[in-house]
Amino acid sequence: MRAHSGMGIDMANGTARRTVAVIGGGYGGSAVAKALDEETDVVLIDPRDAFVHAAGALRALVRPDWAENIFFPYDTLLKHGTVRRGRAAAVDPGGVTLASGERIAADYLVLATGSDYPFPAKTDTDLAGDALARIRDAHAELAAAGRVLIAGAGPVGLELSGEIKAVWPEKHVVVTDPAEELMPGFLPELREELLRQLDALGVELRLGTALAEEPPSAPGRLKPFTVTTTTTGGDAIGADLWFRCYGVRSNGDYLADGRITARDAQGRVPVTERLNVVGHDHIYALGDLTDLAEAKMAGYAMKHAEVVAANVLAQVRGESPTGTYRPSPPSVLLPLGPGGGVGQVPTPDGPAVLPAEQVSAYKGRDLFTGRFAELFGITRD
Ligand SMILES: Cc1cc2nc3c(=O)[nH]c(=O)nc-3n(C[C@H](O)[C@H](O)[C@H](O)COP(=O)(O)OP(=O)(O)OC[C@H]3O[C@@H](n4cnc5c(N)ncnc54)[C@H](O)[C@@H]3O)c2cc1C
Repeated sequence: MRAHSGMGIDMANGTARRTVAVIGGGYGGSAVAKALDEETDVVLIDPRDAFVHAAGALRALVRPDWAENIFFPYDTLLKHGTVRRGRAAAVDPGGVTLASGERIAADYLVLATGSDYPFPAKTDTDLAGDALARIRDAHAELAAAGRVLIAGAGPVGLELSGEIKAVWPEKHVVVTDPAEELMPGFLPELREELLRQLDALGVELRLGTALAEEPPSAPGRLKPFTVTTTTTGGDAIGADLWFRCYGVRSNGDYLADGRITARDAQGRVPVTERLNVVGHDHIYALGDLTDLAEAKMAGYAMKHAEVVAANVLAQVRGESPTGTYRPSPPSVLLPLGPGGGVGQVPTPDGPAVLPAEQVSAYKGRDLFTGRFAELFGITRD
């Protein structure tokens, strides 16, 4: 039997409360910590001082007056548990060691460290104040740019093109991607509608086009440049500023010693259908960090959190965990500004494409900020 860290006593039945260390307070980690807060001693570990709602990050860039809405300080998330600012440096079956050297013993571990993505889609600073300043700086430079190059025509690059056009319809926005097709794996009708809306917005889409080298300026910095492409003839693209919209990276360096698990080629953690890290019945992983065969999405990370919370609670109560997770079929809500965009959802009759009005109503209008205000127990005007 594992030793118990003995951090608290359940006053209702006199039994020792179990400690759950949740590593990473993103979408999945925050949700699982909240769900376990009543019945366990939760310690949520994250180097940031606030949860960052990445799905709103691109709107924050073009609307600095709105940007604060994507930050939710952790201090209102938990009623009983604690939030520890710090970065996990190593884990073992009995707990977590932080980069500071501090050790946090735990009965259960939830690995929820997600993934990083280049700015502006995800922020690269730990303090919300610094991140806001960075967003506002980039906004000022973007506002002064006439021509913008977006490298990468995945959902992030396309969403960014729509946000820029919604605020500055006159700016020239060109989006490049080496792939020949947009949104592979989705319905042809979704692609057609996407192309139609991008065209109506005046976004120049250059598929089958790779940049011969990275632009010489840092992303998000106003500094006119010309880059050549690898298309036949190697034509050039000139712009005043560019953004890198590719390059997701799993956050699992603290697993590098291999004590808990080996990771796959993308740095992802193998999990069972109960979302246990393979080989460990009291260690779970969720969200972008997992090797689940589905798109990496916040909505799924929050579904994983429900399964993990149910299984941990069952174990804590002395029952057998029975929650299982089946990877979700493709779905997407891709806004192009507050009023446009495309979407596809699974239905009992197969995948269905959503009209722009529905994408706007579900996501584009407020980018789910209301839902996170609720999770963090705060009210905003
Ligand atoms: C622009 C953009 C728009 C998006 N829109 C949507 C959308 O509309 N719908 C959707 O479903 N998905 C969307 N996504 C995808 C979504 O953001 C990710 O799937 C989601 O962030 C994954 O959540 P997660 O809980 O796994 O981890 P993350 O949200 O990545 O959070 C991980 C947390 O772990 C912390 N951390 C990292 N390393 C350590 C460490 N060593 N120790 C402690 N803590 C650590 C980080 O600080 C972070 O807070 C979008 C992504 C982007 C970039």
